[in-house]
Amino acid sequence: MSTPIPRYLVPFHPKQVPHFFTDVLIVGSGLAGLRAALGVDPKLSVVVVTKQAAEQSNSYQAQGGIAGVLDPSDRFEDHVADTLEAGGSLCDTEVVERVIREGPQRIGELIGWGAQFDQAGNRLALGREGGHGRDRVAHALGDATGKEIMRVMVGHAKESANIDVWENTCTLDLLTLDGVCRGALVWNALHGKTMVWAKQTIVATGGAGQLYRETTNPEVATGDGMALAYRAGAELRDMEFMQFHPTVLYIAGGSRSLISEAVRGEGAWLVDRNGHRFMTDYDPRGELAPRDVVSLAIVSQMEKTRHPNVYLELNHLDPARVRARFPSIAAVCGEFDLDITRDRIPVRPGAHYMMGGITVDLDGRTTLPGLWAAGEVIASGLHGANRLASNSLLEAMVYGAHSGEGASQAAAKLRDDFTASLVENPRTDTPAEPLKLADIRNSLQSLMWRNMGVRREAEGLHEALASIDHWSRYVLPRQFADPTGWELQNMLCVSRLMIEAAIAREETRGSHVRLDFPRTDDARWKRHITFRREEGD
Ligand SMILES: Cc1cc2nc3c(=O)[nH]c(=O)nc-3n(C[C@H](O)[C@H](O)[C@H](O)COP(=O)(O)OP(=O)(O)OC[C@H]3O[C@@H](n4cnc5c(N)ncnc54)[C@H](O)[C@@H]3O)c2cc1C
Repeated sequence: MSTPIPRYLVPFHPKQVPHFFTDVLIVGSGLAGLRAALGVDPKLSVVVVTKQAAEQSNSYQAQGGIAGVLDPSDRFEDHVADTLEAGGSLCDTEVVERVIREGPQRIGELIGWGAQFDQAGNRLALGREGGHGRDRVAHALGDATGKEIMRVMVGHAKESANIDVWENTCTLDLLTLDGVCRGALVWNALHGKTMVWAKQTIVATGGAGQLYRETTNPEVATGDGMALAYRAGAELRDMEFMQFHPTVLYIAGGSRSLISEAVRGEGAWLVDRNGHRFMTDYDPRGELAPRDVVSLAIVSQMEKTRHPNVYLELNHLDPARVRARFPSIAAVCGEFDLDITRDRIPVRPGAHYMMGGITVDLDGRTTLPGLWAAGEVIASGLHGANRLASNSLLEAMVYGAHSGEGASQAAAKLRDDFTASLVENPRTDTPAEPLKLADIRNSLQSLMWRNMGVRREAEGLHEALASIDHWSRYVLPRQFADPTGWELQNMLCVSRLMIEAAIAREETRGSHVRLDFPRTDDARWKRHITFRREEGD
């Protein structure tokens, strides 16, 4: 039997901590969290709690852009069809239709708030990415779309009189009473633990790329939201589906920067160590095949050529256009003495986008009353088993807006109540022997990369589960005093659920590739795998 996951990470008692009251509490200051905050009625108070500086998020890192039907010759039906095709028959068609039809309105909102997207003449310049049959990706600052969008969103949120942004504040756990979410226990270095009581709470904590050794995600992406929602009793689903970005810069000692799909959209080639352009050996769509297909092809080609990476080649493209379109990528490669208009760029896949997460309905309502969720932390049904490139910023906008508005309406119906309830977690004795947390974190990331990566099979998955269970036996019962320990506890919890789901799904679908079950098995597996913590688990 696996190690029980404790309900709360740390001990607390309402008599021993400060209290704060707000109408709506939002955990996370990425695009989803801030869009949610701006969706709350300005007459209501909002607290946005975020682990580091407000800009530290996947949203800020987004490069390629935001997808939407923006060209008069494009059609909603085509964007829907491309999304369903990428999703491996696990998308919820109603969700896909709704998100895509709302796309132009949500991108229009960003433009209205001041985001400056790149222009071609007097129209939006639209890029094409893998899996899209049309040019429909609006981008900004060339390849730094997230930076521009988040400049606008952070600015607006901080200027709004009803929104308080608490930076460098880690959310440890959701507070629940009688099966209803009542806010969260948060911590920062200056004030210690605080109980934030909220009429409605929205989780928008982003993804979990940091569970892997190779990832494009920043260090805040440790899956906290999934773990804390699970501990509080909300349902999670689709945890086996982690998308690997095929082309992550692979230079020893360098950051694992993403080399955007848009580079292939502009015509870059993937070649192996021998200069062979190999993608058409695997798929007729070549470099523009969906991400899972490209990632798998790269891993296979790396194995075939016994080389730790493959290369992106752009030297057949117009150098001036390459530099203008990809200034950030050119700068990062330049730091390692690579000129992207001339030199080959070494790349390999890395964990990039988590399709699984908290189950939500069309409006972002979770299965736990009082709790909403938006952005990468959710499994809405938009992405199914594999996300279509650039649909995630769109999802963050759509679900951010709906959850913010929904939470606002629900909070407005509740009267003010400034009493703290007796929600507590008594202190227990924990072992005194200190742990080398960085060592366990590194081991976990390597294990996930090796056994729960692009290709999976039963033996490796069971081996990974056994290791995680062993680590969990001595890490989960401990009570740590700062985010390093809590993040590790969250990472162990989320990894375990991901591996359990990957073991259960005995087929290959979307980003979940089982070498021992290479076929898609609709009869048994065209369904979601769900998790919900039972009391005492
Ligand atoms: C390099 C890169 C490039 C990408 N490019 C694109 C692209 O071109 N187009 C596209 O559509 N998508 C892209 N994506 C994906 C996209 O950026 C994300 O899916 C999306 O931004 C998620 O937004 P979010 O608001 O849900 O989460 P995030 O933007 O990740 O925000 C999560 C927030 O939660 C906070 N948080 C986490 N845990 C806690 C905690 N315990 N307590 C308090 N706060 C917490 C974090 O600090 C952060 O502020 C890219 C991702 C990466 C990494």
